[in-house]
Amino acid sequence: MRSLSEELRRAAGDLEVSLYGVADAKGFLSPEYQGNRPQDVMPSVRSVVVLGVPLLRGSMDALPKGRAEYHNSLLAATVTLRYMSFQLAKRIEDAEYLASIVPAEGSEFGIWYADRETLRADVSLRYAAYLAGLGRYGLNHSLVTEKYGPRVRFMGILTDAPLEPGVPASDFAHEGCSSCGRCVDICPVGALEKDGTIHREKCAQYMFGELGGLRCGLCLKTCPL
Ligand code: SF4
Ligand code: SF4
Repeated sequence: MRSLSEELRRAAGDLEVSLYGVADAKGFLSPEYQGNRPQDVMPSVRSVVVLGVPLLRGSMDALPKGRAEYHNSLLAATVTLRYMSFQLAKRIEDAEYLASIVPAEGSEFGIWYADRETLRADVSLRYAAYLAGLGRYGLNHSLVTEKYGPRVRFMGILTDAPLEPGVPASDFAHEGCSSCGRCVDICPVGALEKDGTIHREKCAQYMFGELGGLRCGLCLKTCPL
């Protein structure tokens, strides 16, 4: 009989999920994640299933003029991930475990999922993707994957199913960033710094203020990885 881990991986393949991995929820127990742990949302959680799809290259090439198209392309990726996630979540619940789906970003259609003050989500999908072994962090604070660089949208499923977890990379930060810094230079509001600091509030004020809620994406577009 196939294990649930194997069944989900196969189902993800059938659904054409581009990046798939599983994070051990215990990986969130470091002090840095206090208050933003999957355990705070689902106390019995054991695994975070991570799904990713690439962002459309054409929508990035058109930035900054094609911001509406970029934003719409992001929403299309979110809808696709929602469908995929729900299909996998149903299989998990069919196997008598609990499943709940983590949103792809902090805000959409005027609804806030993240904390408005700190801009932190309940569960960091990028960190879950890192724990699942899907990539390392770039200076732009995105997860840099081998196949798509940082141009990926993620969604996650919290579950109490004991799934086989992936292995995170031994180095947290991508080595390609040490000689680059393009994302820092291109950011129109100085939200990124070369020492790895991010001023999330500057990025958010720019997107939700000046851009009227449309996403920026320049630090992804410029990345050579
Ligand atoms: S643009 Fe350069 S510094 Fe920024 S994430 Fe990409 S490789 Fe790293
Ligand atoms: S999305 Fe835009 S504003 Fe935000 S950090 Fe990247 S370049 Fe800066």
